[in-house]
Amino acid sequence: MKLVVFDEWRVGLLEGETLVDITEAVPNWAPKWPYAWMLPFIASFTEGRVQWDQALRTGLRKSVADVRVRAPIPMPSKIIAAPVNYLLHQQEMGGVRGVYAGTQIKTIEDYGLFLKPSSSIAGPDDVITLPFAERRTDHEAEIGIIIGRQARNITEDEADQVIFGFTGLLDLSVRGPEDRPYRKGFDGFCPIGPWIVTQDEIPDMDAITFRLWVNGDLRQEGCTKDMIYSMRRLVALASYQTTLFPGDIIASGTPQGVGEVRPGDVLHLQVDGIGDLTVRVSKDTATSPAAMGEWFEKFTVSRSVVQ
Ligand code: MN
Repeated sequence: MKLVVFDEWRVGLLEGETLVDITEAVPNWAPKWPYAWMLPFIASFTEGRVQWDQALRTGLRKSVADVRVRAPIPMPSKIIAAPVNYLLHQQEMGGVRGVYAGTQIKTIEDYGLFLKPSSSIAGPDDVITLPFAERRTDHEAEIGIIIGRQARNITEDEADQVIFGFTGLLDLSVRGPEDRPYRKGFDGFCPIGPWIVTQDEIPDMDAITFRLWVNGDLRQEGCTKDMIYSMRRLVALASYQTTLFPGDIIASGTPQGVGEVRPGDVLHLQVDGIGDLTVRVSKDTATSPAAMGEWFEKFTVSRSVVQ
Protein backbone atom coordinates (compact mmCIF):
# COMPACT_ATOMS: atom_id res chain seq x y z
CA MET A 1 0.00 0.00 0.00
CA LYS A 2 0.97 3.61 -0.43
CA LEU A 3 -0.11 6.04 2.32
CA VAL A 4 -0.47 9.64 1.28
CA VAL A 5 -1.11 12.84 3.22
CA PHE A 6 -2.59 15.46 0.91
CA ASP A 7 -4.36 18.83 0.57
CA GLU A 8 -5.46 20.06 4.02
CA TRP A 9 -3.68 17.15 5.72
CA ARG A 10 -6.17 14.52 4.56
CA VAL A 11 -5.09 10.88 4.43
CA GLY A 12 -5.38 8.64 1.39
CA LEU A 13 -4.32 5.36 -0.11
CA LEU A 14 -2.87 5.34 -3.59
CA GLU A 15 -4.04 2.76 -6.12
CA GLY A 16 -2.05 3.34 -9.28
CA GLU A 17 -2.64 7.01 -10.05
CA THR A 18 -5.92 7.05 -8.12
CA LEU A 19 -5.93 8.47 -4.63
CA VAL A 20 -8.73 7.26 -2.33
CA ASP A 21 -9.58 9.54 0.59
CA ILE A 22 -9.73 7.41 3.77
CA THR A 23 -9.51 10.28 6.27
CA GLU A 24 -12.68 9.10 8.03
CA ALA A 25 -10.86 5.92 9.09
CA VAL A 26 -8.08 7.85 10.83
CA PRO A 27 -8.87 8.20 14.58
CA ASN A 28 -8.50 11.70 16.06
CA TRP A 29 -7.64 13.19 12.68
CA ALA A 30 -7.56 17.00 12.65
CA PRO A 31 -5.97 19.37 10.13
CA LYS A 32 -4.00 21.24 12.78
CA TRP A 33 -1.11 20.88 15.19
CA PRO A 34 0.11 18.47 16.48
CA TYR A 35 -0.58 16.55 13.23
CA ALA A 36 0.18 13.35 15.16
CA TRP A 37 -2.68 11.12 13.96
CA MET A 38 -0.50 9.23 11.50
CA LEU A 39 1.38 7.65 14.41
CA PRO A 40 -1.47 5.61 15.96
CA PHE A 41 -2.91 5.06 12.48
CA ILE A 42 0.33 3.42 11.37
CA ALA A 43 0.46 1.43 14.62
CA SER A 44 -2.99 -0.04 13.96
CA PHE A 45 -2.82 -0.12 10.16
CA THR A 46 -2.76 -3.90 9.85
CA GLU A 47 -5.24 -4.78 12.60
CA GLY A 48 -7.46 -1.82 11.66
CA ARG A 49 -7.80 -2.96 8.09
CA VAL A 50 -11.56 -3.48 8.48
CA GLN A 51 -12.03 0.23 9.14
CA TRP A 52 -9.98 1.53 6.24
CA ASP A 53 -11.16 -1.23 3.89
CA GLN A 54 -14.63 0.24 4.32
CA ALA A 55 -13.29 3.74 3.73
CA LEU A 56 -11.43 2.44 0.69
CA ARG A 57 -14.75 1.34 -0.85
CA THR A 58 -16.63 4.54 -0.13
CA GLY A 59 -13.92 7.22 -0.08
CA LEU A 60 -13.75 9.98 -2.63
CA ARG A 61 -11.44 9.16 -5.53
CA LYS A 62 -9.30 11.59 -7.43
CA SER A 63 -6.15 11.62 -9.48
CA VAL A 64 -3.04 12.04 -7.38
CA ALA A 65 -1.94 14.62 -9.95
CA ASP A 66 -4.80 16.86 -8.80
CA VAL A 67 -3.87 17.08 -5.11
CA ARG A 68 -1.21 18.79 -3.07
CA VAL A 69 0.87 15.90 -1.70
CA ARG A 70 2.37 16.58 1.73
CA ALA A 71 4.91 14.98 4.05
CA PRO A 72 3.46 11.52 4.77
CA ILE A 73 4.28 11.85 8.48
CA PRO A 74 3.89 15.53 9.34
CA MET A 75 4.99 15.11 12.96
CA PRO A 76 7.02 12.00 13.86
CA SER A 77 8.02 11.61 17.50
CA LYS A 78 11.61 11.52 16.34
CA ILE A 79 13.93 11.21 13.36
CA ILE A 80 17.02 9.11 14.00
CA ALA A 81 19.74 9.48 11.40
CA ALA A 82 22.85 7.59 10.37
CA PRO A 83 25.97 9.68 9.88
CA VAL A 84 28.63 8.44 7.43
CA ASN A 85 27.15 5.13 6.23
CA TYR A 86 28.59 4.73 2.71
CA LEU A 87 32.34 4.21 2.12
CA LEU A 88 32.51 6.39 -1.01
CA HIS A 89 30.76 9.22 0.85
CA GLN A 90 33.27 8.83 3.69
CA GLN A 91 36.09 9.18 1.13
CA GLU A 92 34.64 12.25 -0.59
CA MET A 93 34.12 14.14 2.66
CA GLY A 94 37.72 13.78 3.80
CA GLY A 95 39.38 13.71 0.35
CA VAL A 96 41.57 16.45 -1.10
CA ARG A 97 38.56 18.34 -2.41
CA GLY A 98 36.27 17.24 0.44
CA VAL A 99 34.45 19.72 2.64
CA TYR A 100 36.34 18.30 5.59
CA ALA A 101 39.66 17.77 3.77
CA GLY A 102 42.49 17.20 6.20
CA THR A 103 40.33 15.68 8.88
CA GLN A 104 39.82 11.99 9.39
CA ILE A 105 36.24 11.12 8.60
CA LYS A 106 35.05 8.15 10.59
CA THR A 107 31.87 6.13 10.18
CA ILE A 108 28.72 5.25 12.01
CA GLU A 109 30.92 2.85 14.01
CA ASP A 110 32.52 5.83 15.76
CA TYR A 111 29.85 8.51 15.56
CA GLY A 112 26.78 6.47 16.52
CA LEU A 113 23.38 7.77 15.46
CA PHE A 114 22.10 11.32 15.78
CA LEU A 115 18.68 13.00 15.98
CA LYS A 116 16.89 15.53 13.79
CA PRO A 117 13.91 17.40 15.28
CA SER A 118 10.39 16.66 14.05
CA SER A 119 10.13 20.35 13.11
CA SER A 120 12.69 19.73 10.35
CA ILE A 121 10.09 17.72 8.37
CA ALA A 122 9.06 19.11 4.98
CA GLY A 123 7.05 17.61 2.15
CA PRO A 124 6.77 17.54 -1.64
CA ASP A 125 6.89 20.95 -3.32
CA ASP A 126 7.63 22.72 -0.05
CA VAL A 127 10.00 25.67 -0.19
CA ILE A 128 13.04 25.33 2.06
CA THR A 129 14.69 28.45 3.39
CA LEU A 130 18.43 28.15 3.98
CA PRO A 131 19.39 29.50 7.41
CA PHE A 132 22.65 31.15 6.32
CA ALA A 133 23.58 32.95 3.11
CA GLU A 134 27.33 32.51 3.59
CA ARG A 135 27.58 28.96 4.83
CA ARG A 136 27.76 25.83 2.74
CA THR A 137 24.61 23.73 2.89
CA ASP A 138 24.55 20.32 1.22
CA HIS A 139 21.98 17.87 -0.07
CA GLU A 140 22.11 14.26 1.15
CA ALA A 141 19.83 11.83 -0.69
CA GLU A 142 18.64 9.06 1.61
CA ILE A 143 15.90 6.55 2.32
CA GLY A 144 13.61 6.97 5.34
CA ILE A 145 12.73 3.80 7.22
CA ILE A 146 9.28 4.15 8.81
CA ILE A 147 8.80 2.31 12.11
CA GLY A 148 5.51 0.42 12.49
CA ARG A 149 5.49 -0.78 16.08
CA GLN A 150 6.99 0.01 19.44
CA ALA A 151 10.35 -1.72 19.80
CA ARG A 152 13.28 -1.84 22.16
CA ASN A 153 16.48 -3.88 21.99
CA ILE A 154 15.60 -5.87 18.90
CA THR A 155 17.95 -7.93 16.77
CA GLU A 156 18.55 -7.55 13.04
CA ASP A 157 16.44 -10.68 12.53
CA GLU A 158 13.51 -9.01 14.24
CA ALA A 159 13.76 -5.76 12.27
CA ASP A 160 11.32 -6.83 9.54
CA GLN A 161 8.53 -7.05 12.12
CA VAL A 162 9.21 -3.46 13.20
CA ILE A 163 9.63 -1.78 9.80
CA PHE A 164 6.34 -0.43 8.46
CA GLY A 165 7.63 0.94 5.19
CA PHE A 166 9.87 3.39 3.40
CA THR A 167 9.89 6.86 1.92
CA GLY A 168 12.35 9.18 0.18
CA LEU A 169 14.30 11.50 2.48
CA LEU A 170 16.71 14.40 2.17
CA ASP A 171 19.09 15.08 5.06
CA LEU A 172 19.96 18.72 4.40
CA SER A 173 23.12 19.74 6.22
CA VAL A 174 24.99 22.93 6.96
CA ARG A 175 28.72 22.14 6.96
CA GLY A 176 30.86 23.26 9.86
CA PRO A 177 32.11 22.41 13.33
CA GLU A 178 28.84 22.29 15.25
CA ASP A 179 27.19 19.03 16.32
CA ARG A 180 25.05 17.29 13.70
CA PRO A 181 21.67 17.92 15.37
CA TYR A 182 22.31 21.67 15.04
CA ARG A 183 23.66 21.63 11.48
CA LYS A 184 20.99 19.21 10.23
CA GLY A 185 18.07 20.32 12.37
CA PHE A 186 16.87 23.56 10.81
CA ASP A 187 13.26 23.95 9.70
CA GLY A 188 12.67 22.11 6.45
CA PHE A 189 15.95 20.19 6.63
CA CYS A 190 14.21 16.80 6.48
CA PRO A 191 12.00 16.66 3.37
CA ILE A 192 10.24 13.27 3.15
CA GLY A 193 7.95 11.70 0.58
CA PRO A 194 6.22 11.58 -1.68
CA TRP A 195 4.38 8.89 0.35
CA ILE A 196 4.99 5.82 2.50
CA VAL A 197 5.32 2.53 0.66
CA THR A 198 4.66 -0.41 2.97
CA GLN A 199 7.39 -2.98 3.40
CA ASP A 200 5.53 -5.74 1.54
CA GLU A 201 5.77 -3.70 -1.70
CA ILE A 202 9.56 -3.44 -1.51
CA PRO A 203 11.02 -6.73 -2.79
CA ASP A 204 14.47 -6.20 -1.26
CA MET A 205 15.21 -3.33 1.14
CA ASP A 206 18.92 -3.96 0.61
CA ALA A 207 18.65 -3.21 -3.10
CA ILE A 208 16.73 0.07 -3.29
CA THR A 209 18.22 2.37 -5.92
CA PHE A 210 17.77 6.13 -5.91
CA ARG A 211 19.14 9.31 -7.46
CA LEU A 212 19.07 13.04 -6.90
CA TRP A 213 19.13 15.91 -9.37
CA VAL A 214 19.75 19.57 -8.62
CA ASN A 215 18.30 21.87 -11.28
CA GLY A 216 18.20 18.88 -13.63
CA ASP A 217 21.85 17.84 -13.10
CA LEU A 218 22.33 14.35 -11.70
CA ARG A 219 24.33 14.68 -8.48
CA GLN A 220 23.83 11.46 -6.53
CA GLU A 221 23.09 7.88 -7.45
CA GLY A 222 23.05 5.17 -4.83
CA CYS A 223 21.82 1.77 -3.74
CA THR A 224 21.09 0.55 -0.23
CA LYS A 225 23.26 -2.52 -0.89
CA ASP A 226 26.30 -0.27 -0.38
CA MET A 227 25.34 0.83 3.12
CA ILE A 228 27.97 0.13 5.80
CA TYR A 229 25.19 -0.59 8.30
CA SER A 230 22.25 -2.21 6.51
CA MET A 231 18.64 -1.10 6.94
CA ARG A 232 17.96 -3.89 9.44
CA ARG A 233 21.14 -3.24 11.41
CA LEU A 234 20.26 0.48 11.64
CA VAL A 235 16.87 -0.38 13.12
CA ALA A 236 18.46 -2.76 15.62
CA LEU A 237 21.11 -0.21 16.59
CA ALA A 238 18.55 2.57 16.97
CA SER A 239 16.42 0.32 19.18
CA TYR A 240 19.33 -0.11 21.62
CA GLN A 241 19.68 3.66 21.88
CA THR A 242 16.03 4.54 22.32
CA THR A 243 12.58 3.00 22.25
CA LEU A 244 11.22 3.14 18.72
CA PHE A 245 7.62 4.23 18.26
CA PRO A 246 5.25 3.90 15.31
CA GLY A 247 5.89 6.69 12.84
CA ASP A 248 9.48 7.21 13.91
CA ILE A 249 11.79 7.70 10.96
CA ILE A 250 15.32 6.40 10.53
CA ALA A 251 17.42 8.15 7.86
CA SER A 252 19.70 5.69 6.10
CA GLY A 253 22.77 7.83 5.42
CA THR A 254 23.79 9.18 2.04
CA PRO A 255 25.91 7.81 -0.80
CA GLN A 256 28.64 9.75 -2.60
CA GLY A 257 27.89 12.84 -4.66
CA VAL A 258 26.74 15.23 -1.95
CA GLY A 259 27.06 18.82 -3.02
CA GLU A 260 26.10 22.36 -2.37
CA VAL A 261 22.55 23.65 -2.37
CA ARG A 262 22.07 27.29 -3.37
CA PRO A 263 19.14 29.67 -3.03
CA GLY A 264 16.69 29.10 -5.90
CA ASP A 265 17.73 25.47 -6.52
CA VAL A 266 15.25 22.70 -7.26
CA LEU A 267 16.05 19.32 -5.69
CA HIS A 268 14.53 16.20 -7.18
CA LEU A 269 14.88 12.82 -5.45
CA GLN A 270 13.73 9.67 -7.20
CA VAL A 271 13.55 6.36 -5.34
CA ASP A 272 12.80 3.24 -7.36
CA GLY A 273 9.68 1.51 -6.06
CA ILE A 274 8.71 4.54 -4.00
CA GLY A 275 8.41 7.70 -6.07
CA ASP A 276 9.60 11.23 -6.74
CA LEU A 277 10.10 14.02 -4.21
CA THR A 278 10.77 17.58 -5.38
CA VAL A 279 11.51 20.51 -3.08
CA ARG A 280 12.52 24.05 -3.89
CA VAL A 281 15.04 26.24 -2.15
CA SER A 282 13.94 29.81 -1.51
CA LYS A 283 15.86 32.60 -3.20
CA ASP A 284 16.05 34.27 0.21
CA THR A 285 17.92 33.13 3.30
CA ALA A 286 16.45 33.25 6.76
CA THR A 287 18.71 35.03 9.14
CA SER A 288 19.13 38.67 9.88
CA PRO A 289 22.33 38.92 11.95
CA ALA A 290 21.67 42.58 12.67
CA ALA A 291 18.40 41.74 14.35
CA MET A 292 19.99 38.97 16.40
CA GLY A 293 22.92 41.03 17.65
CA GLU A 294 26.67 40.79 17.28
CA TRP A 295 26.99 37.56 19.24
CA PHE A 296 25.05 35.79 16.49
CA GLU A 297 27.26 36.87 13.59
CA LYS A 298 29.84 34.15 14.17
CA PHE A 299 27.23 31.51 13.35
CA THR A 300 26.51 33.02 9.97
CA VAL A 301 29.99 32.96 8.43
CA SER A 302 31.72 29.97 6.87
CA ARG A 303 33.57 28.23 9.67
CA SER A 304 36.61 25.98 9.80
CA VAL A 305 36.01 22.44 10.86
CA VAL A 306 37.42 20.97 14.03
CA GLN A 307 36.26 17.40 14.41
MN1 MN B 1 22.80 12.17 6.21
